[in-house]
Amino acid sequence: MALMRSLGRLLGSAVDRHLARCLLCGDGPVPCAGICTPCRHDLPPLGHACPHCALPLASPHDRACARCLQQAPPQNRSYACWVYAYPVAQLIQGFKYRRDFAAGRTLAELTAAELLPHQGSDQRPDLLVPVPMHWRKQLFERGYNQAQLIADTLGSHWQIPVDARALRKVAPTDSQQTLKRAQRRKNLANSFQAQPRVAGLHIGLVDDVITTGATQEAAAQSLLQAGAAQVTSFALARTP
Ligand SMILES: [Zn+2]
Ligand SMILES: [Zn+2]
Repeated sequence: MALMRSLGRLLGSAVDRHLARCLLCGDGPVPCAGICTPCRHDLPPLGHACPHCALPLASPHDRACARCLQQAPPQNRSYACWVYAYPVAQLIQGFKYRRDFAAGRTLAELTAAELLPHQGSDQRPDLLVPVPMHWRKQLFERGYNQAQLIADTLGSHWQIPVDARALRKVAPTDSQQTLKRAQRRKNLANSFQAQPRVAGLHIGLVDDVITTGATQEAAAQSLLQAGAAQVTSFALARTP
């Protein structure tokens, strides 16, 4: 916990240092979040998307994507702020792999403002839970879980508590990149373990990017098995 707190402070000071200049075009000064208004309008919005998995839909008449129409995923809704494309993808990669905390914080703050679940609405979770990383990866490879830093930002803006320990990753999935989707999903299903304290709660599951949706489905499944009332998924971006 102490480590995450100091990371939080680091995140704050990283933003302070970058505050004067836009992260994308270098123009300054930028008053609130670290991206100037013209650049913010250039970020690729998600637009009309599948309510279950946030996949962008071609036609405004489509109610859901083909896959979710066939079988709805365990999470009741999925929200993402942008399409995972330039320059959002580059900012997220910097945050994820090169410790660019200012980029992460900025995207999380913009997402918090954009996706704000209204007070009293049934889309408002009781608790935010970041998609966990396997402890070995977090400790020895990356040093931090980007999903937790995003959850902390969303939680403080939305005034919803965050519990980073409610869900654990019990099996590493690094070697799964090359597996076929069906096999990957099968392996993922048992790779998360949720704590009984999620019982009866509406959980907001937080991650940086929704790629295939398989991770969100497996994590949601685990939360529901532990008694969660429902799961809503939130992410910065969605792979088209
Ligand atoms: Zn700019
Ligand atoms: Zn879908």
